Amino acid sequence: MAEEKPYLTGRTYLFRLPKGKDLLEELIDFCHDNQVKCGIVSVVGSVSNATIGYYDQAKKKFEKSLFDEELELLNLTGNVSIQDNRPMVHAHVTLADKDHTVIGGHLLPGTKIYVCEAYIQELVGEPKVRRSDKVTKLSLWA
Ligand code: ZN
Repeated sequence: MAEEKPYLTGRTYLFRLPKGKDLLEELIDFCHDNQVKCGIVSVVGSVSNATIGYYDQAKKKFEKSLFDEELELLNLTGNVSIQDNRPMVHAHVTLADKDHTVIGGHLLPGTKIYVCEAYIQELVGEPKVRRSDKVTKLSLWA
């Protein structure tokens, strides 16, 4: 494996996301507006519904699932890198319903914010760039 250059920590953000907006799109827009090109993302809160994916390794595509219910956002973990010359957020979520049953997956557009508190740590250095991977058909870091 090639040697990785370490990053330095840059700006640190802690903020509330706007109610009723799309969770993934808001994170991407925040990174774009603040020129965060590389970093890590963490969010806790609750959502009004959720759209998450599961990558089927045999079919090489995402199976999409919609949950039209209020859910606790136990954890969103993700990263920021560059795709098509623009910040892109790759995030996975763990969600719980009112019975505390947990579901999770790859966050897709179509998850509405109820109350979400976000933490973004910018990383300073050469930003990771995503490119289409022939084997997985995913957009991966080079
Ligand atoms: Zn993913």
